[in-house]
Amino acid sequence: MTAYDQLVAKLKRAHTLGTVADLLGWDEQVHLPPDSADVRAGQHAVMAETQHAAATDPEIGQLLAKLESENVGTVPSPRSSDQTVVLRHARRDYDRSTKLPADFVSEKAAHSSRAYHAWADAKARNDFATYAPFLEQHLALARREAELLGWGDRPYDYAIDKHDPGLTATQITALFSELKRGLVPLVTAIRASRVSADANLFHGFPVEAQRTFLREVTERLGFNYRRGRIDVSLHPFCSGTGADIRMTTRFDADNPLDSLFSSIHETGHGLYEQGLPLAQLGTALGQAVGMAVHESQSRLWENQVARGRGFWKFFEPKFRALFPAQLATVSSDALYLAVNTVGPTLIRVDADEVHYNLHILLRFELEQRLFSGALAVRDLPAAWNALCTELLGQTPTNDREGVLQDVHWSSGGFGYFPSYCLGNMMAAQLWATVRRALPGLEDDFARGDFSRLLGWLRENIHAQGRRHDTLALVRRVTGEELSPGHLLAYLRERYGGLYLK
Ligand code: ZN
Repeated sequence: MTAYDQLVAKLKRAHTLGTVADLLGWDEQVHLPPDSADVRAGQHAVMAETQHAAATDPEIGQLLAKLESENVGTVPSPRSSDQTVVLRHARRDYDRSTKLPADFVSEKAAHSSRAYHAWADAKARNDFATYAPFLEQHLALARREAELLGWGDRPYDYAIDKHDPGLTATQITALFSELKRGLVPLVTAIRASRVSADANLFHGFPVEAQRTFLREVTERLGFNYRRGRIDVSLHPFCSGTGADIRMTTRFDADNPLDSLFSSIHETGHGLYEQGLPLAQLGTALGQAVGMAVHESQSRLWENQVARGRGFWKFFEPKFRALFPAQLATVSSDALYLAVNTVGPTLIRVDADEVHYNLHILLRFELEQRLFSGALAVRDLPAAWNALCTELLGQTPTNDREGVLQDVHWSSGGFGYFPSYCLGNMMAAQLWATVRRALPGLEDDFARGDFSRLLGWLRENIHAQGRRHDTLALVRRVTGEELSPGHLLAYLRERYGGLYLK
């Protein structure tokens, strides 16, 4: 074996251990009996330690040093460009892992598991106070981690960089401010519209038939069920790798679109993972760029594709065939308007596309205040409610519909929220690009054919692995810098057409 092959074998071993830890996390949210949380926390801690030991194996450091020294001053380089990508990311990941002591890693993993259960419990009882100490501890751990990695003066930028390498709070602030300037007038105009979707169209949609429809839709979009599955959890998510994707959803007999769209969203994540080169799993060439790119994939399928006319031209007859009585009095226009409902809601995951980004601006602002120390955790519910009133024009009446609604912070996932909004921007920019590159896409969709779109995403995004960072990838594929302009234009076109006629 060459030194390069030895390195790849070590990287793949660490990656495989990570997939085992992911499965434990998936099981925790899908199947874990209520009183087994403590034992799971212990399992997480052991797995995190083992995985950390594999990722920080001194032999990786030695192999990296050897391979890097071979590169110096040799023309032409002994490395292919693919190998150079793998080495660059392996060095970055190795340096990050080796700077975190093993006891810190296991402490954080065990705390995440305990905090998740504390959050779920606090949310069920609508009681922020019992969860607050867990969140405080998470913030302390996040600051400590940033410090250990040399980002002590910019802990929030570190949190962002973990999800979207290369991006900073300053860059995001500029993008979000521009988005907000264009978005607020659109939201105001739509809210004043006489057109409104009927939110009470759907009653008594049996879960089994919803499941059947879901399966048909997600298979048709291209999800490979031989290398993935979908189950039920409290909060929908997608985990695993292209070799074994675990998606989740939840069902409500009176809200079939919730399950449908959240499943299409998770399918977008799954399609990205399934499109990464399987043989490269465990190296940078088989990994997603970051969460903004991931969200661009889920959002593009969920919104640009599945809320569009072409998609519904094909799927509406199938939807009606499964729910003939429930949809008997619902016209096609009413159904399409329901799919594109716009209305304020306090809950991010229920938000429509137009309001959604405001929910993210709120979280981004609060995360910055928490990290700067301007806001104490105990004051978070009040700050949340005040900002929610300002941005969304509605005030939560309890913490369940306010600060306790999201799972992210319970696992220490700070810096993740901006990725959703960046992903929305990127999805709209990709959509504008692919519509120019492949005319007639909506006609494909109307025939139930999504393969040209998937093929384009496979080639331009999925197959690239981590060759390019987020902003470079956007520039390369769309020919422009990432900006909110395409998202605003897309929202004006779709929702202006429905609500501002
Ligand atoms: Zn997502």
